[in-house]
Amino acid sequence: MSKSSGSWLISFCIAVAFTVSANAAPFEVNSDSSKALDQFSVTNIAQAMQRFTHAPHPMASSEQKKLASEIKAGLVKQGWDTQIQKFKTKIPNLAHDKLGGKDKNAVPVKEVEGENIIAVSKGSDRCMLLIGGHYDTKIYKDFKFVGANDGGSSTAAMQELGRVISQIRKQEASMKAVMPETGRFLDCSIGLAFFDGEEATLPEWSDGDRLLGIQDNIHGSRAFAATLERKFDGISYQGLPVKAVLVLDMIGHKNQNLFITNGSHPLLAQKLLAQKTTTKIALANVSIEDDHLPFAQMGLPFLHIIDWTNLSEWHTSKDNLDIISNKNIADFGDMLVRFLKQRR
Ligand SMILES: [Zn+2]
Repeated sequence: MSKSSGSWLISFCIAVAFTVSANAAPFEVNSDSSKALDQFSVTNIAQAMQRFTHAPHPMASSEQKKLASEIKAGLVKQGWDTQIQKFKTKIPNLAHDKLGGKDKNAVPVKEVEGENIIAVSKGSDRCMLLIGGHYDTKIYKDFKFVGANDGGSSTAAMQELGRVISQIRKQEASMKAVMPETGRFLDCSIGLAFFDGEEATLPEWSDGDRLLGIQDNIHGSRAFAATLERKFDGISYQGLPVKAVLVLDMIGHKNQNLFITNGSHPLLAQKLLAQKTTTKIALANVSIEDDHLPFAQMGLPFLHIIDWTNLSEWHTSKDNLDIISNKNIADFGDMLVRFLKQRR
């Protein structure tokens, strides 16, 4: 019984998908002919992953600035109000002779300029949902590190999410007269935050603190969180009350096994898990330091989602396209969209 109703549901969805594709404007591109425009495209994900892994791009590198302007342009094209948030931050100076360099006269700590990409799609004035992930790659001198999973997967997912949300909003705008205020996250204003400088400059996460007394990680998310407005009755961004923050990292492994980590809001987690179909994702009793921390420290409800099982390639030259499943990223993205379509 459940099997047959299941397959009926699938063929129904495909039929709907074809109808929508045929009627939609050609401006939006979902290169997967079998999927609707308001679904994640595996082809688009693959393209974004190719671009991300073209070359290493740590914070403050010329490659990173180039990528930032390309990601920004893509989001602007999809109608997102997109800004580059430049910020100054202190990092270990790798030229220093005690930090792996050769320069005895170099200062051990230097100031660099990072760039967050912040894209906003205006919805309701009553709520703001922030979705973030880092787009820098960790710096390694000895090998080429392109961070396909660590940085690339969440960046590609957020770029495609930008396209999908625009598409859904366009489709729904024509029906707005008959649509009541639904209380969905999708109706909120949505901010996509591509964080720079999540990665530590030195090999280990806490080396900056241990050796130099500076925090050398999550530079971008800390700088962005500092721009949120704190008021007695809550925290807002661009004057809109932030209801939740979703942070994604390392979501694209071919053996994908996603964790919703400690501190994540239980009701948000429950709502996300209610939309699970093929994606392997579960609550996990694990605490990981990542870009969600500045928001957690502000008391904002958050979901931090990361794959913390496939670690043999993590921070090695093997974190390349060979370990990525674009389909796993797309399936997770579609799940995220179903989550956004639920009532909050
Ligand atoms: Zn990393």
